[in-house]
Amino acid sequence: MSNFVEIRGVTKIFPAGKGETRALDNASLGILENEFFTLLGPSGCGKTTLLRLIAGFEQPTRGDIILDGQVLGHQPPFERPVNTVFQSYALFPHLSVAENVGFGLQMQGIDAVEANERVQEMLALVKLDDYTSRLPQQLSGGQQQRVALARALANRPKVLLLDEPLSALDLKLRKVMQIELKRIREDTGITFIFVTHDQEEALTMSDRIAVMNEGRIIQVGTPTEIYEDPADRFVADFIGDTNFLDAECCAAGEGRFMLAEGVEIQAGSRNDLEPGQRVTLAIRPERAAIGDSAEALMSGTLENVVYFGTDTTYHIALAGGGRFQVRIQNRDGALRHFQVGDAVGVRIPPDAIRVLVH
Ligand code: ATP
Repeated sequence: MSNFVEIRGVTKIFPAGKGETRALDNASLGILENEFFTLLGPSGCGKTTLLRLIAGFEQPTRGDIILDGQVLGHQPPFERPVNTVFQSYALFPHLSVAENVGFGLQMQGIDAVEANERVQEMLALVKLDDYTSRLPQQLSGGQQQRVALARALANRPKVLLLDEPLSALDLKLRKVMQIELKRIREDTGITFIFVTHDQEEALTMSDRIAVMNEGRIIQVGTPTEIYEDPADRFVADFIGDTNFLDAECCAAGEGRFMLAEGVEIQAGSRNDLEPGQRVTLAIRPERAAIGDSAEALMSGTLENVVYFGTDTTYHIALAGGGRFQVRIQNRDGALRHFQVGDAVGVRIPPDAIRVLVH
């Protein structure tokens, strides 16, 4: 399938005092038509800058942005077939819900009957058809964000850009809106490019995610690929919790690695590593198991037990140094008889280990 939006070698440099900030560094990626695509990364990694370049609020220092086969050169934002929803809803306080949604249509000179039909259609889409005559201050934060969404969708953009649109909402409402946004994307068939620093939000909503750091695209993949097979230590650390163990390759073809404390560990086989090569083994806490120290590969002392409703996390100080977390689901039969201070063992199935090359 060909890309609907293509970011091709884009660099963006901002002047900063006497120096400069490289907000984007040779970033390239492709987004498919109708995709829910998320830009995910820590604060300052360049997500918003990339979104603003697509919208036309900024120009790239180098590189091209292509949308539906057209290179977006110097077209101003209003000439681009894109629209943006911001974190701050930016509604007109003196206009009603319906007037806010219809404002852009009126500016474009669309006739009143058609504009009114589209406003009704959009308000039904965001489930606000009973609120047409209210003013923004008479709405909750979540309802105001729905109005902003309806307004951005009303002129039928090819691509909708969403810049942390849910971050001002409380957790419960955010979860409801995450599901709603997915439905709205499916109902409209519009390509969504969504910016967030919240990994859980990205995993919940996206067809694919681009993980960014320091202006670079580190990995692009489905939520499962990003979580299960992180490209490097940064991605493994940023998405979910991960244990890291330093190791040296013994016989990678057979999947044998030597941990720093002299214990041999079995992982999946790799044909691209040399004996003696230094690697990091990444293990998700929920993929490891806690048990008696005698029968386990690694032993340690249980330092902390954190109960979290659905699961319990065991924090273990390893005998050879370092710390390790094991997470067990709380259901009938789950192991709960370990106490802080107990000597415990950690077991790691070979297929739970991701080998990250330095
Ligand atoms: P956040 O999640 O905090 O919004 P972000 O990933 O969206 O972060 P950007 O806003 O794209 O990050 O910023 C990337 C870098 O570029 C930062 O170091 C920021 O300070 C810098 N930057 C962004 N806009 C400008 C500007 N107009 N002038 C100078 N520097 C800028």
